[in-house]
Amino acid sequence: MKYVSTRDASIIKSKITASEAVCRGLAPDGGLYVPEALPSLTLDEINSLAALPYTERAAHILSLFFDEFSLDELREICRSAYSSASFPDGAAPVVPVYGNLNALELWHGPTCAFKDMALQLMPHLFSACLKKTGEARRALILVATSGDTGKAALEGYRDIPKVSIIVFYPETGVSRVQKLQMMTQEGENVSVCAIKGNFDDAQSGVKRIFADESVQKRLDQNGIFLSSANSINWGRLAPQIVYYFSAYCELLNAKKITLGDTVDVTVPTGNFGNILACYIAKKMGLPIGRLVCASNANNVLTDFLSTGVYDKNREFFITMSPSMDILISSNLERLLYFTAGADVNSKLMSELASNGRYEVSSDIINAIKADFCGYFTDEAQTSETVKRLYCEHGYLSDTHTAVAINAAERFISEHDSNSVMLVCSTASPYKFAADVYRAVSGKDPADSVSALEELSEYTKTNIPTPLKKTLTAEIRFNRTIEASEMIGELPL
Ligand SMILES: *Cc1c(COP(=O)(O)O)cnc(C)c1O
Repeated sequence: MKYVSTRDASIIKSKITASEAVCRGLAPDGGLYVPEALPSLTLDEINSLAALPYTERAAHILSLFFDEFSLDELREICRSAYSSASFPDGAAPVVPVYGNLNALELWHGPTCAFKDMALQLMPHLFSACLKKTGEARRALILVATSGDTGKAALEGYRDIPKVSIIVFYPETGVSRVQKLQMMTQEGENVSVCAIKGNFDDAQSGVKRIFADESVQKRLDQNGIFLSSANSINWGRLAPQIVYYFSAYCELLNAKKITLGDTVDVTVPTGNFGNILACYIAKKMGLPIGRLVCASNANNVLTDFLSTGVYDKNREFFITMSPSMDILISSNLERLLYFTAGADVNSKLMSELASNGRYEVSSDIINAIKADFCGYFTDEAQTSETVKRLYCEHGYLSDTHTAVAINAAERFISEHDSNSVMLVCSTASPYKFAADVYRAVSGKDPADSVSALEELSEYTKTNIPTPLKKTLTAEIRFNRTIEASEMIGELPL
């Protein structure tokens, strides 16, 4: 299977293999890589996956996108990624919430957030792709993070052969627990550094390094090339398609649906990666009804899905669901490509770059509305939902998941729906313990670290082992530098 850029209308220039797409990340024209055509599965094939464990389901789905790999090679990669040591409760369990609502819990991995689903697998895939493409140099992964991605990338790439990783995070704007998770990171090929400033300063610093040709040349002389781990890479998106097929299998096995029934899905959305993976699963033949795109107060996507106007020129809110505090959802570009083609997408992306705004035609927005609808949940509704789910239904939810469940509830009542609704649950409640504790108990925690103990005592649930270890682990990285000094961290 060949891959093309979302901005290449001629399609001939950009055709490359899956391995090349994963090694390159971004296309040279600024577009994102997508498969030239989407593979499809019959209902019988989906049904046969239901008898298999998660790693086998994953190897099977990934083999449709990575056809240069044998099924055995992919099995090996999937077993390394989703071992029971990393995912002791299973990779992606489906848990009943109440009524027709079911949570697809994607946070049972080593960093307790859904980024693990992709970032536990992608490093193994990346390393295999380097071999397939004959790359002799060592890869250096640079990451600027506002929280969850940094830790998940560190944990995924630690001790992967022929790869090193450096993570930069802003000194302010990362929670105390997230900071501890990164400062205590283990592994021989990892490095972590705080930057004086905010996330934008860290992000701009990384972009400057990527754009600096003399840096690339000096690294090349040392046998090193730069790469990134963010969610525009096809290698991060593909593993996310798997869990939608797996969730359908789980619902079949639990006899909540019969083969062919449609399931609606609600996704707490930031960069549009997770929900796009669900859209791709639907286009591959998985019986999915509506895709509900849930946003927090940063509701740029809710507006787009109702009006066809995408406008990032608006106030930015810091919310209790920070992983969704985003004004540019990069993966929306892939949806525009699938709906409107490369020509239209290129024009829209250059409008976004120059004006921060674009408007799609009514044909395009109507086509998108056939699959998607958008809701946003404000801060008061988010806390209310965390509290109500816990008090009335015994389901302890994190703040991002609560944004989505609230949206799902409104979708169900407005559409008078009797279908099964699957909601992506994207973080352990303990990852956002202070806000969750405040919502369920009505009390302030003593501080953000003691909030984990307080939440555990109040709800009689256990702090996940990886987070518990973080609280007492040895600090390995505690340096803070100026953003202008970031280049000095590279092995030049
Ligand atoms: C990253 C993240 C999201 C948003 O996912 P996208 O793929 O960027 O839309 C939602 N919730 C949590 C906890 C996350 O870490």
